[in-house]
Amino acid sequence: MVHIKDSYLNILVCKMAVYLNPCLSLPINLAENEFEDLIQKLKDWTIMHGGGMRSKKQYSNDSLTVVPFTLLPSVFPRSEFQKAVSIQPALNELTHYVSNDHAFLYSCLEKTIEVDEFTRNLFNLYETVRSEGFAQRISLGMLRSDFMQEKEASGYYIKQVEMNTIASGFGWLGIVSGDIHRPQKGHTMCILLMCGALQSRCLGLLRSDYLLDVCNSSSVKQVELNTIASSFGGLTSTAPTHRFFFQQMGLLDKLKMLPENKALQGLCSGIIKAWELFNDKDSVILIIIENQSMNVCDQRFHEFEIARQKPELNVIRKNLTQIANEAKLSDTKDLIVQGKKVAVVYFRAGYTPDHYHSEAEWSARLMIERSKAIKCPNIQYHLAGTKKVQQALATPGMLERFIKDTKKSTDIRKMFTGLYALDLNEDGDKAVKMALDCPERFVLKPQREGGGNNLYGEDIRHKLTSCMNSKERSAWILMDKINPPVQQNYLIRPNQDFKKNSSLCDVVSELGIFGIILCDGDNILINEQVGHMMRSKLTSCNEGGVHAGDGVLDSPFLI
Ligand code: ADP
Ligand code: MG
Ligand code: MG
Repeated sequence: MVHIKDSYLNILVCKMAVYLNPCLSLPINLAENEFEDLIQKLKDWTIMHGGGMRSKKQYSNDSLTVVPFTLLPSVFPRSEFQKAVSIQPALNELTHYVSNDHAFLYSCLEKTIEVDEFTRNLFNLYETVRSEGFAQRISLGMLRSDFMQEKEASGYYIKQVEMNTIASGFGWLGIVSGDIHRPQKGHTMCILLMCGALQSRCLGLLRSDYLLDVCNSSSVKQVELNTIASSFGGLTSTAPTHRFFFQQMGLLDKLKMLPENKALQGLCSGIIKAWELFNDKDSVILIIIENQSMNVCDQRFHEFEIARQKPELNVIRKNLTQIANEAKLSDTKDLIVQGKKVAVVYFRAGYTPDHYHSEAEWSARLMIERSKAIKCPNIQYHLAGTKKVQQALATPGMLERFIKDTKKSTDIRKMFTGLYALDLNEDGDKAVKMALDCPERFVLKPQREGGGNNLYGEDIRHKLTSCMNSKERSAWILMDKINPPVQQNYLIRPNQDFKKNSSLCDVVSELGIFGIILCDGDNILINEQVGHMMRSKLTSCNEGGVHAGDGVLDSPFLI
């Protein structure tokens, strides 16, 4: 049985109890071999539907392992989900305005670039192309704003973890993880109800075929449910009797609890719109990848989706080293790869020093930025996504300088959590003292992307003590640690023994909302929210990167 430790979960599950009948308890009451079969079947379904990644340990271009995922979706308050969705266009706009404000970017980063070589290289590149005059006025942002919930006096509210402006991944895998949990056309429905204390329960939906597996060994109620549900050909069935039963069970409503997700389609339509604006039917899309792309499914499905929406459009994948060796800039500043003019460059790499093995990769990045190709992101957008900019926007009046609409700026500001600069001055000293007094309350962040770079707890103390009187402090920002509500779930990982896959864990979730913004100078042509992704991690883990190995794919179950 679930022990309701957290009042958040308590509230949620009590709400759920209004809708649902008890069915299945957590831990899932299955015989070991049945549970093992269920997990294997789900893993097979997932990898066979594009939920794969390359193995870090045994990298091969010819094989995939299944992405890690949660067995059940995670409960997320509908109102907070909708808030995150509806604020995305304002966040897109904010990022765009920030990226075009040289004075602001400079004031945010001037101290940081003195001490942080990577950010300095990016900034120098920006200054170079700016002084030469930007060759392309059109910009394309494919952004992902990440949120966690934080408890406040009157409930849980979303707080922004960060804004990603480069290589915002999981537009595809976010959909896959929803589909693992979502019953689909042609499948019967499987319902797992997790009973808790206080007669309260949460609901998870699993793919149809597993219903039988689950129900074989279960209670009378589950068998009843099985009898009803298994008689259906699919949830979308139009047969009146089916609808009647679903209505009886209140299940039609439940579908709305797993929100539709069209992130991939939306993101790719942004790339295609940019290509159309470039207005050269022979031009191509260039995707910049790492030397070894672990997240190959997520990337390739973007490519496949572009091909689906626009079959005549060619996509080329290259890493920065290959660009340095193979690409050229024409006299008219066209970027030429494999003899083709590049209309749009979509960066899925280039966000960490690891992607720049030598000067060659930097010269490749410079060549791209100098070119007429539409960059996603351009260097300004890349810099606008630094943690330093996020921290500066949170200082009083700064966000409001960019977002004039008071309702929008108030809504955005409510999602900010405490962010502090650590420069060598009085305010920086205060922040350092605060962190040294109670490091558990904070996260210490450098200007890096891709997960695994932040410091927590005692490591914060060590770091800050070691650079107490040094300018190096300006390379970092301090952020209030967000404490999201704890839920229970099963974390299914590849090559993990059954015992671990089948042990119920305490997890917390992070929601990412995707946005696209296509502009011609200051003229905003497209500004939309296009979908979501969710990741969960053990409460004992500080970071939740899926490829870093701690996070697993999840999907929101809205109540
Ligand atoms: P990155 O750009 O490397 O992804 P993030 O700011 O997203 O950097 O931090 C990485 C991870 O660290 C997040 O996914 C989250 O799990 C954790 N994290 C970051 N900021 C906070 C915070 N303020 N409170 C709690 N956890 C955080
Ligand atoms: Mg990031
Ligand atoms: Mg992140």
